[in-house]
Amino acid sequence: ARPILTVSGVRKDYGSTAALAPTSLELVPGELAVLTGPSGSGKSTLLMIAGGWETPDEGEVIPHPPLADVAMAEQPWEHVGVVPQSISLLEELSIADNLAFAARRRGSTGGADLAALLAALDLDVLAGRLPGETSRGEQQRAAVGRALAAGASLVLADEPTSHQDRRRGELVLDVLRAAADGGACVLIASHDPVAIGRADREISLG
Ligand code: ADP
Ligand code: ADP
Repeated sequence: ARPILTVSGVRKDYGSTAALAPTSLELVPGELAVLTGPSGSGKSTLLMIAGGWETPDEGEVIPHPPLADVAMAEQPWEHVGVVPQSISLLEELSIADNLAFAARRRGSTGGADLAALLAALDLDVLAGRLPGETSRGEQQRAAVGRALAAGASLVLADEPTSHQDRRRGELVLDVLRAAADGGACVLIASHDPVAIGRADREISLG
């Protein structure tokens, strides 16, 4: 398949710390790839660079937006769905409205069925709550829903099951797997054996 993103010889240092050794990879639509490697090997740094939030010291990231994806073609870096390690929901909006806002802001027309997405993430009962009225695990699942709400072609998720129990972790992987099966490219940084087991490919750093 035609790649959606090419990462070519990307390297990053923070001061004297080598955050990411030179790394190259190609991601294709329909794949769920898991980024593994010891703590400090640069998984988060690579996700930030792949999403355009960090600039590499060397190398480049080249997006190849799908022709049908008008939003991504016009603004490739606006149409990435991200689950940041920090979760970072909008605190003044309910869980449901966090998803709806993400879907609207990205001008989505063919986005996800938000009610179905909330139910799949075991958030339907909590959908009307503010993030501050939910647990960290629930906030993290809401961040997964937000990343998928607009039907993004590229989804980057940093340890998306780190606050989940086994059953909820499987729900998170189910929705990410479904997004990939629906044609998105999903890249997860994770040590979770469930995530590794559900991935099409493991990319190991360090
Ligand atoms: P991983 O996600 O694999 O644990 P990270 O990408 O978070 O690795 O970090 C790689 C290395 O870069 C670590 O040594 C980390 O401390 C360092 N690092 C990451 N982000 C920053 C930053 N903003 N400033 C300074 N050092 C950083
Ligand atoms: P989890 O299994 O996701 O860690 P917790 O054990 O922290 O959940 O929480 C159990 C229940 O208590 C959840 O249904 C959650 O919605 C609720 N809850 C947790 N933290 C808060 C909070 N700060 N305010 C209101 N309700 C909360």
